[in-house]
Parts: sequence; C-alpha cells; structure tokens
Amino acid sequence: MAFYCHRCGTSLPAGARFCSNCGTVVAGAAPMPGRPLVRPRVGRQIAGVCLALAQANGWDVSLVRVLTVLGFFFSGGLIGIAYVAGWIGIPEEPLGTPGGVSS
Ligand SMILES: [Zn+2]
Repeated sequence: MAFYCHRCGTSLPAGARFCSNCGTVVAGAAPMPGRPLVRPRVGRQIAGVCLALAQANGWDVSLVRVLTVLGFFFSGGLIGIAYVAGWIGIPEEPLGTPGGVSS
C-alpha cells in the first residue's frame, strides 16, 4: 500500500520512515525494528515477553523462543527469572490501538 508525506505530499514506498523529499519523519509507518517494547496481545505463547523483545529489536521470534528455552535449562533458571521480570516490567500492548498514541 502506498502512502504519502503529510507535509509535502510526496508518494513514499511502504516502510519508509522519512520523506525522501523533505525529510519529515513519516507518522504511521511501523517497520518491525524500533517498535516500542510492549507485550503484544496476539501471537503470544505465554506472556508475550519473547514476542515483545523480538518485535522491539527486529529479531525472529522463533529464534528468541528457542534461545529462551535453551537458556532456561543451561542457566539454572536465570532466564526464567528474567522472563518473569520481563513479564512484570514490560507493559502490555494498549487495547485496540496498535501503534497508536495511547500511553
Ligand atoms: Zn515530505
């Protein structure tokens, strides 16, 4: 889907973060890397911590999950503690406002 710079009206490719004509930051563009650290409500397995980390950093969520499970066994439970900490510390994605301005 094509979209346009809200400032100068230049047509921009999907996924563009800045206008190629005037340099304005394009609002509404939500590429995978650089997303806020929130636990998405859809696609989660347990609490969405792996998914949150993967989406915020542009990682492959399957890889994050595999490493988490492996790390859980090889770290003597430290990863489990970190997971629970993330569960508590990472806010849940706001209801009904994907990529929105809600706090
Ligand atoms: Zn522009």
